[in-house]
Order: sequence, then C-alpha cells, then structure tokens
Amino acid sequence: MNINISEHHTSETCTWCEKSKECVTADFNDAFIGKAAMCWNCLQKAVKVSSRKETDETSGHNRKPTD
Ligand SMILES: [Zn+2]
Repeated sequence: MNINISEHHTSETCTWCEKSKECVTADFNDAFIGKAAMCWNCLQKAVKVSSRKETDETSGHNRKPTD
C-alpha cells in the first residue's frame, strides 16, 4: 500500500464523514479509495481498511465461491 499525502487543509469537508474539519488530501494509489480529502480520523480508518484489504488479497488466493 502506498499513501501519498499531498495537501493539508485547515478547514475542509471530509469526503468520508462529511464534516468540516482539518483535512489532508491523501492519494491511496488504490482504486477503492483513490485520492480524497479526509480528516485525520477518517484517514486512520482508511489506512486500516486499506491494509486489511491488502492482507485479504495476499492471503485470499483460495477464494471460495459465494453461495
Ligand atoms: Zn472524516
């Protein structure tokens, strides 16, 4: 996973929680999240989601078909 924080905003609407907060523009190099302005709180969540997804992908070669 590669996260690139490109901008800092003292007050911006977070893409995730839609509250006006201190935000950063983070580029996740990931189709799921992509590039988004988000607050620090949501950034941490996004990192968790993204790293969990990455773990699933590396260990999930044995995918069961969904029924
Ligand atoms: Zn947020």
